[in-house]
Amino acid sequence: MTEADARPRFVADGMLGSLARWLRMLGYDTAYEKDMRDETIISMAASENRHIITRDRELAKQPGSLMVESDDLEAQIKCVAERFQLTFDEKAIRCSACNGPLADLPKEEAAGVVPEGALESNEAFWRCSSCGKVYWKGSHWHGIMDRFRRLNLV
Ligand SMILES: [Zn+2]
Repeated sequence: MTEADARPRFVADGMLGSLARWLRMLGYDTAYEKDMRDETIISMAASENRHIITRDRELAKQPGSLMVESDDLEAQIKCVAERFQLTFDEKAIRCSACNGPLADLPKEEAAGVVPEGALESNEAFWRCSSCGKVYWKGSHWHGIMDRFRRLNLV
């Protein structure tokens, strides 16, 4: 068991796509699909041991679920972070696009896949094990970290 296995897992309802992406970047396994039915969300929560995060009062009645009241993304992140005591863990980051786990990508293999500037200025790269999306610590990364710092999650 690594520490990442002890982190809570989530399933987000169709209203919370942005929040789901940010939870993945924070290092939390967060299932989300735009058109998931309530029954699917409920059964996924039970079978995969996930907390439901939702804007729907009915869904929020499920055990272990969290009602997210705000429309504001940062307030939403804060709401989940406070309830479940979330903290950023670089080793646990998931693919923001699909929730897949990231695997180290050797620099030799990143060549030709990432833009030349990114290759020159970075030593570490990651690839999503599910969809193949490649990540590195570019300007986008720094923007994400700024937000996490502002929210006291780092
Ligand atoms: Zn992916």
